Amino acid sequence: MENKEWLFDKSQQELEKFCVLNGFKKYNAHQVMRWVYFYQIFDFAKMTDISKSLRGGLINNFHANLPEILDTTYEEDITGYSKKYLIRLADDKTIESVLINYNSRKTLCVSSQIGCKMGCTFCETAELGGGRNLSSGEILSQILLINMDTKEKITNVVFMGMGEPLDNIIEVEKSLNIMSDNNFLAIAPRKITVSTCGLLDKLKDIEKFKYKIAISLNASDDITRSGLMPVNKKFPLKDIVNLINHKKPSIHNKITLEYVLIKGINDNILNAKELIKMFSPSKVKFNLIPLNKEKNSIFLKNFERPDDNAINDFKVKLLKAGFTVTTRFSKAQSINGGCGQLTAKTICFR
Ligand code: SAH
Repeated sequence: MENKEWLFDKSQQELEKFCVLNGFKKYNAHQVMRWVYFYQIFDFAKMTDISKSLRGGLINNFHANLPEILDTTYEEDITGYSKKYLIRLADDKTIESVLINYNSRKTLCVSSQIGCKMGCTFCETAELGGGRNLSSGEILSQILLINMDTKEKITNVVFMGMGEPLDNIIEVEKSLNIMSDNNFLAIAPRKITVSTCGLLDKLKDIEKFKYKIAISLNASDDITRSGLMPVNKKFPLKDIVNLINHKKPSIHNKITLEYVLIKGINDNILNAKELIKMFSPSKVKFNLIPLNKEKNSIFLKNFERPDDNAINDFKVKLLKAGFTVTTRFSKAQSINGGCGQLTAKTICFR
């Protein structure tokens, strides 16, 4: 394997270059990618519609080994199940992905980095600090592995696992191109959400961005937001408001504002009033996420989840102002697979 390149890290253009340089046809690259991503056949010898010599060329130059699933944790109720995967990459680093399978929608929460350097004070992934970017192949192989494990295709993808996707924009975009291509993984752009803490310099071309965007807002004033999310010092709330207000409205592609509700910090009804003043229901919808926290978390010792009444009052206030609001009582919380709980540190056996 030593000198072989990893096929999953290749874009269609890169594979076309290989084909042409080695005397094959440009369109052969498309055929190979279709076998890999559409049919999910990874054995070059089984790619029956390509020539023997190309199959030989592929075998000599590439390998298509998927990372290994080290462990899974499972939780179910009458509406469906969540399954958290601990995955070992080629350099022995580990990441987590969470499958959320409810009401016949199979959403995969993928990781885009190992650890995270954004430093949000309420997020356990941040506690790991910055590790490294995942390659596009490492992002795509999370989907391939879980398709294989469940024998069903993932229908939706959210970049809400470990890491900040816009801090790894090149590899994330490379993976998005393959995942959304109808000939390959065929997950429609409207079924893919890229969630960011607000690296707004990476969203300059927002009108052209065809995937759904979620911005983790988490506060209604700069002092609170900077305390929770260091990124706010570089890109404060007014910049987020500006970006959103200058974006053409689109009913089908409203920006989601994620708002982690933390008791006594950002859950006051006055915070909801400030949000109502700042944003318009025609441009954004809210996703409230009551804080996820392991019972004895030392890292999150200063933070608590608000009680159900406070969560409901906050929601009703936004609803009455005309916003679409969902409350995400994170699935998979009991297996530490909820938002902000992915650390890939522990192996939980069941
Ligand atoms: N870096 C990206 C995506 C990963 S986090 C981002 O910031 O959007 C995905 C979501 O989980 C974010 O909205 C984040 O604010 C939220 N989150 C982080 N820690 C959490 C926690 N302890 N409880 C609930 N949600 C949390």
